[in-house]
Amino acid sequence: MKHPAPSSRIGGFHKLAIPERIQAVAGFAGLDAAEQAHLANTGNLAPDLADHLIENVIGTMNIPVGIATNMKIDGVDRLIPMATEESSVVAAVCNAARQCYDNGGFVTSMSGTLMIAQVQLTGVPDPEHARIRILERRAEIQVLCDACDPVLVKLGGGFRDLEVRVLQTQSGAMVISHLVVDTRDAMGANAVNTMAEKLAPRIAEWTGGQTNLRILSNLADRRLARARCTWRLTDIGGEAVRDGMVSAYHFADADPYRAATHNKGIMNGISAVVLATGNDTRAVEAGAHAYAARRGHYGSLTRWEVTAGGDLAGSIEVPMAVGLVGGATKLHPTAKLGLKILGVHSAEELARVIAAVGLAQNFSAMKALATTGIQKGHMALHAQNIAMMAGAEGEEVQQVARVLIDLGTVRLDVAQAELQRLRSGRR
Ligand code: NAD
Repeated sequence: MKHPAPSSRIGGFHKLAIPERIQAVAGFAGLDAAEQAHLANTGNLAPDLADHLIENVIGTMNIPVGIATNMKIDGVDRLIPMATEESSVVAAVCNAARQCYDNGGFVTSMSGTLMIAQVQLTGVPDPEHARIRILERRAEIQVLCDACDPVLVKLGGGFRDLEVRVLQTQSGAMVISHLVVDTRDAMGANAVNTMAEKLAPRIAEWTGGQTNLRILSNLADRRLARARCTWRLTDIGGEAVRDGMVSAYHFADADPYRAATHNKGIMNGISAVVLATGNDTRAVEAGAHAYAARRGHYGSLTRWEVTAGGDLAGSIEVPMAVGLVGGATKLHPTAKLGLKILGVHSAEELARVIAAVGLAQNFSAMKALATTGIQKGHMALHAQNIAMMAGAEGEEVQQVARVLIDLGTVRLDVAQAELQRLRSGRR
């Protein structure tokens, strides 16, 4: 007799202890004892903490943390922890940083630590009038917002500005209020969301409309991290390399198909540091891509030019809503170590370092693409991954990978055949 398909309707799953949840999932998915034991091993993140960070926890996911060397930022040498599952990302930053180290490394700056919260107001017959009526209440709004977070205010943060726009939409005019808040060393999502929720009923009262959404904007364009760097022509391999890279940038800035991949490479570096410090990768990614499209055309987050002396000058400007407090930053033990290794003492310092990493990453990706192609650098690690996928263990990994590279064919079937040949030779 055929068994009925198991049901995903598991009432009270969230109330179960982790071992009980693992058991329930094992029953559903047919996990054996070894697989259950694997899930139960949460490594260097205590199960209790994991269970507090998110809901319905059954395990943790280990991602390698690598260190990018050679980084000199604003005259200070830094080791950069990067959490990523993708090969070549850490090496790319090391390589780019090595090629500009003797020329001074990276120079960074930041526009500020301001976040924006939005309050959506609908159903006002006189939106322009309502806009002015809200703006008249600026002082009152400041008091209301600052009262939400006395800790933040004590630390020098809090309400900074009020902006109100009338937005024409498919369902008519909306009045959108922006609370501009200095969130100091916090990413600030919870901080500004609380303020927006507190303010919304008052806006409805003052205007006679209905408030709907009250939430931060991830387009953190008042929190722009900037980095620049000049690579000397002699350090990068000459004019042809330089011109190929500038041409690659022009391609990316003109074409969204290329820009998506160009910026993905930049985010390889940025997201790895954001994750290694316990910050919100999705928030930073959303902000970066929205900023890249701010002119109504999705383009490059970086700029590349040739200096008067013929060197290659790169720069980046990107929203960087990261914090040293809040979220998982102060709770996750590996994130805390990430911040300690980096040696940053403010959210601004962290954001600036991350921008420099994004620029370094972009340099290496463009240089590889404009010269040897991306696969050459990728292949050594990729070949090892393929060897492991084929079942190679211990020394076999290197042995199989080497054969794949020598053959110029990094394919799973070839790796399997080579592994078989290797093992039969040993018998
Ligand atoms: P939080 O509320 O946990 O901590 C921030 C608070 O810490 C401040 O409001 C302040 O009261 C206090 N604080 C102590 N020391 C401070 C200092 N030196 N500087 C500033 N504040 C200090 O965290 P948060 O930063 O408001 O929110 C971040 C979390 O919100 C992240 O986990 C993020 O994933 C999540 N989140 C993100 C979104 C989004 O991006 N769309 C939406 C909702 C929640």
